[in-house]
This record gives sequence, C-alpha cells and structure tokens, in this order.
Amino acid sequence: MLDLLLLVNAPVLKGTTWKRGKISPAFPSRAFIRAQTNVFAIKARHIFTLQRHDVKDYNEQGYRSSAYLSLTAHTILPRSSSMASAKGGPDFESLYATSTDTDVDAPSPSKGDDTNEAPSFGTEDYAQDSLKAKFQLPDLPPPQSLSSNSSATGSNPDPTSTTIHDIPFRAQPAHRHHTWAKTFHSRPELYIRPQTIEEVQKAVILARRSKRRIVLTGAGHSPSDLTCTSAWMMNLGDMASVLDVKKDTLEKGGAGTVLLQAGIYLRDINEKMASHGLTMPNLGSINAQSIAGAISTGTHGSSMRHGLLAQSIRSLRLVTGDGRALWCSAQEKPDLFRAALVSLGAIGIITEVEFQLTASTNIEWHQSLETLDTVLSNWEKTLWTQAEYVRCWWMPYMKHVIVWKADKTTKPKRAPKPSFYGGALGFHSYRIMLWAAYYIPSLLPTIEWFVFGMQYRFSPGPVTDAVEEQKDGLLMDCLFSQFVNEWAIPLHKGPEALTRLDKWIHGDEEGSEIPFSAKNLYVHCPIEVRVSDGAQSNVDNSACAVRGFMDPSMPDEPTLYLNATLYRAFGLDPPCKERYYEAFEWLMKELGGRPHWAKNFQEVSKDDISKMYGDNLTKFLKVRHEVDPDGMFVGPWHRRNLLGEGDVPLLLEEQALGTSPNKSEGGLKFTGEINARAQTMSPFGSLQSVRSEESFDLLEDDEVAHLLKKESM
Ligand SMILES: Cc1cc2nc3c(=O)[nH]c(=O)nc-3n(C[C@H](O)[C@H](O)[C@H](O)COP(=O)(O)OP(=O)(O)OC[C@H]3O[C@@H](n4cnc5c(N)ncnc54)[C@H](O)[C@@H]3O)c2cc1C
Repeated sequence: MLDLLLLVNAPVLKGTTWKRGKISPAFPSRAFIRAQTNVFAIKARHIFTLQRHDVKDYNEQGYRSSAYLSLTAHTILPRSSSMASAKGGPDFESLYATSTDTDVDAPSPSKGDDTNEAPSFGTEDYAQDSLKAKFQLPDLPPPQSLSSNSSATGSNPDPTSTTIHDIPFRAQPAHRHHTWAKTFHSRPELYIRPQTIEEVQKAVILARRSKRRIVLTGAGHSPSDLTCTSAWMMNLGDMASVLDVKKDTLEKGGAGTVLLQAGIYLRDINEKMASHGLTMPNLGSINAQSIAGAISTGTHGSSMRHGLLAQSIRSLRLVTGDGRALWCSAQEKPDLFRAALVSLGAIGIITEVEFQLTASTNIEWHQSLETLDTVLSNWEKTLWTQAEYVRCWWMPYMKHVIVWKADKTTKPKRAPKPSFYGGALGFHSYRIMLWAAYYIPSLLPTIEWFVFGMQYRFSPGPVTDAVEEQKDGLLMDCLFSQFVNEWAIPLHKGPEALTRLDKWIHGDEEGSEIPFSAKNLYVHCPIEVRVSDGAQSNVDNSACAVRGFMDPSMPDEPTLYLNATLYRAFGLDPPCKERYYEAFEWLMKELGGRPHWAKNFQEVSKDDISKMYGDNLTKFLKVRHEVDPDGMFVGPWHRRNLLGEGDVPLLLEEQALGTSPNKSEGGLKFTGEINARAQTMSPFGSLQSVRSEESFDLLEDDEVAHLLKKESM
C-alpha cells in the first residue's frame, strides 16, 4: 500500500487522458496553465486521477481565466528486478583517488543506495590516470547501452562495460525553483541530483530519449529568469567535493591549484582550503554561489589586479548534449574551453573544474565618504589603483560616494564597528521606509539621506575599517530582495557615465543627453561602482591564457561595472523600474557597454548582443552547435539573447508559454513548453503534444524503477 501511495505522486506512469470542457487547441503565447491533481481511485494496476487545469490568457489589460478538467488512467509499471541486482564495477578509488591530504573529500558517496555504484567503463587509462599525479582526466564516452541513441557517440565504448541500467537516476518531481530574490519562479518537471559523472551522463541520455531540455542550477542566485524551466532541472549539489589539491606549482603568483567538483559553493572552497593555507584570489559581494554557476555568468569582484572569477580556471570537464564527458583547457580543445568559461548553461554540464588559488591571508579594509566631485577628479589618478581591491557605492541624491579599499596584511584580525542596517533596527526600518516610498516615491531622496547618513556618515571623512580574513572581508551584506541591472563599460567612460546619469536622475534631461523623461522619477539605493582588468599582463593569479568568448568585460582595457540596484521591500517592485532601467540601459549601450549576463537587463536584443560580441558570439554559437546541436541546453533566455527569435527552434529547445504573477511570494512564475518542437516529431502523432506520462514511456522499466525508488526515499 505504501508503495502504491508513493506511486500516486510519480509522473512515471503510463496514462491515457480524456478531457471534458473546452480549451483552445493553440494557447495564446502568454497563457499558462496550473494543474491540480486529485487521485480518486486506485484499482489493480491502475490509478485514476482527476485534474483541474486553470488557464490564464494574458493581455495588456490583465488576464482572463478559464478552467477544464481532465481524467487520466495510469498504468502502474512493474518494478524491475534488474534494479535490485545492480552490482559492482566502479573503481572510484582509482578514478578519483590518491590524495593523502586530509581535507580532500571522497567523491560523493552512495548515500545509502545500494544500487548507485557506478560502472567501470573499461577505460584502463582512465583508471590509471590518477588525479593526484596529473590533473588531466581523459574524455569519457557516454554510458554504453544508450549511446547508440545519441546523435554523436564520440568514441566506442568498451563491450565489457556495465550497462547504463546500473547507474542510478536520482530525480524527483514537484520541485519549486526560485531565484534568490524570488523575482522568478518555476516548477521543473523533474529535479535531478546526480552524484557521479556517470549519473550526469545517464540523465543527459534519458533527457534525449524523453525529448527534454536540461537546465543547470548552482545556487539559483542569478537574478534573471536564466535558470527557469518547466522541463528538467539538474543540480550538482551532491557533486561538491574537493578532489585534489596541489600546492606551490604555479609560476605566476598562484599558490596552489585545486580540483573541484563543479557543484561546490565558493564558501566551501575557501573553508576547505583554509587548512591548506589557500584561498580564492577574488570574490564578488557574496560567496553563496556554486563554482560552476559563478563562472557561467561572468561573476566578478572589484579589483584592477583581477579579471573574472572564470580567469582562475585552468581546465574543466563538461558533459555535452550527447553524453560525452570532455576535458578542455587553453591547450586542449581551446574553443570548447573558451565557450565553457562563460557558458550561460548553454554548452553542457560542467562537472569538474581545476581552479587556481592564492595564499590565504588577512586583508585590511577602510571605508570613507567622499564627494562625487572628489571621486571623479581622482578617477584617472589613484582611485582604482590605491589598493588591490577597491569598490564604490554612489548615492546620487547625496552627491556622495562611499569608497572601500582593501590590501593584504599580516596584521591580526580587527572587527569592524556595527553598522546601521547591519543591525535589526536599521535593516527593518530601511525596509519599511522603502515600502512607504513604493506609495510615495518622492520620499526617496530623504530616505537615502537618512539611511546612508546613519549607515556611513553625513559629511565626507573616514567611516570605518577592519582586518578580516580575505575570504570574509571581501564580502558585503546584500540586505534583501532586489533587482540588479549591471553593465560593463570601458573604465575611462566612467566619469561621463556618472555625470550624465547624475544629471538625468536630478531631472536635467537635456544636459544628460539621455532621451527619456525623468519627470517625477525617483530611484533608490546606491549605484554599485566596481572594476576589473582581465588583460593578461595585469592580472594577478590569472590561470587563464585565454578568456571566455562571452566574457562581458572589456577585451583590451580595464572595465567599469555600474550596477543599478532597486530593492523590493516586502516583494514590491519599485514603480521607477521600467523607465529607470530603460534610460540606464540606453546610456550603457551608448557608452559601449555589455550587460552582466546574470542580471535583470530588459532592453537588449539579440542584435545588440551581436554588435557587442561580434566574432566571439559567432564562435560561441559554433561551439554550442557542435556540442549540442539539438538544443538540450537551450531555453527562452538563450533564444531571446543569443540565438535570435526568427530562427526555427531546435529539437529539444524549450519555448516560453509565458509568465504570470506569483501571488504567494511575489515575482513572476515562468511556464515553458517542455517539448514544443518534439511534439511534431513525436511517435504519438504529429499534432499531439507529448505529455510527460507518454514521454516517460520512452524510458525502460528499470529506469522508471530507479525514479520510483528515489521518490520513496
Ligand atoms: C545577493 C547576490 C549578490 C551577487 N553578487 C555578485 C557580484 O558581486 N558579482 C557578480 O558578478 N555577480 C554577483 N551576483 C550574481 C551571481 O554571482 C551569478 O548570478 C552566479 O551565476 C550565481 O551562481 P549560482 O551558483 O547561483 O548559479 P545559477 O544562478 O544557479 O546558474 C547560473 C548559470 O550557470 C549555469 N550553471 C550552473 N551550474 C552549472 C553546471 N554545473 N554546468 C553548466 N552550467 C551551470 C546555469 O545554467 C546558469 O546559466 C550576485 C547575485 C546575488 C543574488
């Protein structure tokens, strides 16, 4: 009985559906459906479900609701005996082994599942090639028995190898995904958490069979809808180990290299490396991202001596759309490497990265309040070079800038004094004030004056300082939910950008030469002002001789990042957003800017991106096409920004059905057509959509059984 009840929630059922009620055969493009399932009968080997589908059609005026019912009879599949008999084979010790360092993790363990030992692929070289001896893993063919289904198998698997059925498929339905700021939400059909590279490969092959797109997530911290999907979502949170550490091997300022599984979070890298005396050379404002996610969108900190975080990657391995696991670096498959460095999740599944670290140390930081005029006059002189790490927050209504600078030090730790909104009183009162400004936006200049005066000071001068470990001192408190719209422009255009934006925010449209009305528009928050310099000769600890094709920083000069943040107090979207971002993005484009890939840019077309990236976009798309011709890693975000709307969708590509307001937590709910193209290719008829039950029928019984077993755990 327990089994049956668990099966009830499983989508892995064979089903036939009868519908009552009316529904238009072709939904308007901005429609979405919510389905509620009630199981009302379990009989013999059948389950009957009644589903209510709420349909909403969107237009400018709002939405129109309608509903229909569907009745589905599911056949319960038998459990496969092969599952229980899965056995032996893997020699992980020889795959991952041999470090004697105490802090090096074992590869992800079996977690109580006796079936999850991975197969040996009979690749003797692979087994002999210890990571300790050599940080280079050979490419891995897809697991054997399904590889004939893939479009390009890459190499011939060993006939003695264990079949794919012995590899677990750890997936669960009913996962709710949202961004850190809860600005976007989605409900993937399946949420997959592999524990080994073979499980990753298997999931890719099953997705191909089921005609599903796979979306990768790390920590889900990208503020845009980049990671939203109704199809399959994969997270490498169970592949988050340190596999090996090498110290003192690098010539150019580096102190060591670490081999990491790609799901590891930045904070865990630094925690685990502390006992080795190593740390990441640079960080952004937070350390809660996964390493794969952070590099995939071009995450950066603020330093003229560092480029993107991705520039510390020496090599990486990824699983491509046909299930192959390919190792690449600046020397080996350099184009694949350059595409994968800032991959936007569109190249494949990054499973391991080799990352260059620096010696861990304390940093001493100082914060001071300066006038905008002082900052602009120092711009070309010492502003950005006065310390290894420098970042600013510009407060337009106060006409002041907070300058934060930090250098390495041998001094002992010294805590900073408590800050206003670091404490509960400041935090909550700021939120409440912003909530009030949602209704009366003209309060914002006064709120800014009060809050930032309390947080920093009301007149120029030093604010505070501290000595902290680098891994902690580089971070900052990002407070609460927010929109962020960050652009990279050439550093020398900074004074012009700030001066024109300053005029526009203060209502001088003519002087600003920004052709949008600023009348009655009030913005809030400091604008974050940061830098990087990825030009090789300048970069400390740069492991990379090459940069990602889609690296948004400037190719041959230092980069300035301007981040227009808008807080969403209590989940409310600030009323200035559309007009402010329209004007801001217009100015950024005019100054030769490129948007931060992860963030909330809204006025950018594929043509704009083509102009910004030129030949590099062409090369990126060429590699993308080679490793994933059917679009397993392509969704609406990629179509909109990279591939172009006019082209024919790829076979496995997910297309957007629309977004709708998320009533419970704010933000937008994304709904996608999980197999828009696949339906025309469907074995079930050319016009009929492939429902998940049918699609799962393409899996074999023991694959289904793995899924069911996982659900019952
Ligand atoms: C509070 C906050 C502060 C931030 N501060 C900064 C900052 O200071 N500087 C900055 O530049 N950015 C900053 N960001 C943005 C953040 O660094 C990026 O959005 C980063 O990509 C998030 O990493 P993640 O692990 O959450 O990845 P996700 O957001 O989950 O994914 C990001 C991309 O990586 C892909 N991906 C994830 N895992 C894999 C994998 N294994 N293989 C292939 N592709 C994969 C996803 O498909 C997606 O395309 C901040 C974001 C927040 C919410």
